[in-house]
Amino acid sequence: MERYGLQGLVDVHTHFMPERVLRKVWAYFDAVGPMTGLEWPITYREEEDRRVELLREFGVLRFTSMVYPHKAGMARWLNEWAAGFAARVPDCLHTATFFPEEGAAGYVREAVESGAVVFKAHVQVGAYDPGDPLLEPVWGLLAEAGVPIVIHCGSGPAPGKHTGPEPIARVLARHPRLRLVVAHMGMPEYGDFLGLAERYPEVRLDTTMAFTDFAEKLAPFPPGERAQLRELGDRVLLGSDFPNIPYVYPHQLEALERLGLGAEWLRAVCHDNAAALFGLPPR
Ligand SMILES: [Zn+2]
Repeated sequence: MERYGLQGLVDVHTHFMPERVLRKVWAYFDAVGPMTGLEWPITYREEEDRRVELLREFGVLRFTSMVYPHKAGMARWLNEWAAGFAARVPDCLHTATFFPEEGAAGYVREAVESGAVVFKAHVQVGAYDPGDPLLEPVWGLLAEAGVPIVIHCGSGPAPGKHTGPEPIARVLARHPRLRLVVAHMGMPEYGDFLGLAERYPEVRLDTTMAFTDFAEKLAPFPPGERAQLRELGDRVLLGSDFPNIPYVYPHQLEALERLGLGAEWLRAVCHDNAAALFGLPPR
């Protein structure tokens, strides 16, 4: 990335989580292969310290610790863990999460007050409607505070009951200033989510896994939508899904480079857009 005049990257979508949760996630990916024929070998199955070190070696200046509950009663505990992780790993942005449950607005407020700068929501794993009334005060609070939420709401790699553009579009209609960062470029509903970003100036998308050989085989990005991608260059953020990726980290960067959208676009996506969003020093 040096050749593009970048000193480093900001990756808004990386996973650090309590050890036993991460082991379960890895076990899931190990089982995916035999189940679906889609092999998903985890490239960076390393100890936590080593995983942090690897990101630094790749030139990542700031990253996140995307945690997400699959059921009620987990989010508060995950948030405590993520706060501790950000405190001991200063290049990790303080991350938090939530679930539609009693008390959600309370612990989300506490997380924001204690310095969380980004949230993660996973509509497919959590299997909830983002329009659940229990989340109404959460969206209101996060819109008001201007805290971004990286949200897996597209229907890839497998659709859920509430994935796809419609459920989240209904939330945006009520909270138009919500700073949603649509994970995986909204894969496979790329065009619909790009459309939401066109319509709502605070909606962004992260590149996580998109445009890689792996994703192009499963859900190719339509070449016809490349112009929109260029237009929205200030709303696209680098994300990777490290360490749970079935290829080496630099492949995500190559995948962005070969889109041919130019050096300015790459600088914005790989650093400047996230730096502006999180108030980090400019390059
Ligand atoms: Zn992820």
